[in-house]
Amino acid sequence: MVRRRVDFAARVVAWQAEHGRNDLPWQNTRDPYRVWLSEIMLQQTQVVTVMGYFERFLTRFPDVQALAAGTLDEVLGLWSGLGYYSRARNLHRCAQEVVARHGGAFPPRAAVLETLPGIGRSTAAAIASLCFGERVAILDANVKRVVTRALGFDGDLAQAANVRALWDAAMELLPTGTQAATQMPRYTQGMMDLGATVCLPKRPDCVACPVQVDCVAAKAGDPQRYPVRSRTLKRSSQSLWLLWARTDDGAVWLDKRPTPGVWAGLHCLPLFDSEAALKAAVPASRRARLEPLPVFTHVLTHKDLFLHTWRLPLEGRDAQWEQGAWVDARNWPALGLPAPIRKLLQQTPVA
Ligand code: SF4
Repeated sequence: MVRRRVDFAARVVAWQAEHGRNDLPWQNTRDPYRVWLSEIMLQQTQVVTVMGYFERFLTRFPDVQALAAGTLDEVLGLWSGLGYYSRARNLHRCAQEVVARHGGAFPPRAAVLETLPGIGRSTAAAIASLCFGERVAILDANVKRVVTRALGFDGDLAQAANVRALWDAAMELLPTGTQAATQMPRYTQGMMDLGATVCLPKRPDCVACPVQVDCVAAKAGDPQRYPVRSRTLKRSSQSLWLLWARTDDGAVWLDKRPTPGVWAGLHCLPLFDSEAALKAAVPASRRARLEPLPVFTHVLTHKDLFLHTWRLPLEGRDAQWEQGAWVDARNWPALGLPAPIRKLLQQTPVA
């Protein structure tokens, strides 16, 4: 049973001013470019990881025009290591659309922001409320936890109808009245902060929570019951074989992964579905040089990748493959590379 909390928003706003996070590099600004960039980077990624990437990104691309004019390769290079690379590809497309369709200014309304690549309903609401004071609710994973617990919302979020009902409930909690637009930025930030620092998945700090006074889950003593979601992700696994051809002067052969697929658009060692396919791609005269390296596992969202690497030491660059090119030792570090491939290339190969 969900009932309206009259002073819920006021409590969140007051708490944020005193106890919330107010010094992150993307705060204290109403610049939608910075807010958008931070929101995309923070999806599935910890604040501490995002910090350095955010600064480097802004140094190279200080505004949406600069990002739109940059190349996708450069964007992927700066994103390298953050993972979930579709975010970077959408970021670049989104910047280009903001410039082409909106004259280089982010639209202020969430409903329009949502039409841009990579911007979902919650991200659109975050930008519109934080930068333009629009009265719209965010509902990322952290905020879902706060709202479901505070309201005792026990609908199964695996069902779309329940998700819609939760959005409605989140809208009901927003600030109201003449001050609503002024309060929206702090309210939105407060909900994010509560989810990230107080209403944690395990052992929420209810004593420190501003909405504890009528939080249904806290009263019942079972916050961890929420949010309710019956469906669990089915994981799969895949084995891939990597050919690490490397010359004496440190050049490596890299090709660009096709879209869609694993690591789409990133530069990568040539990938094969089997050991036989990898060996068949190496000229017969060089096959004796192939050396297997220990298999390592890379965990993606829905899949475990078992990576089998074969190293091929070469003196010069006379060997060539159908796709890709030799890349100098000083150039490959700046390319967009999948994190496990970067880690592998950074190893000093055994002589
Ligand atoms: Fe979460 Fe506890 Fe606050 Fe309820 S009182 S919203 S369970 S931290």
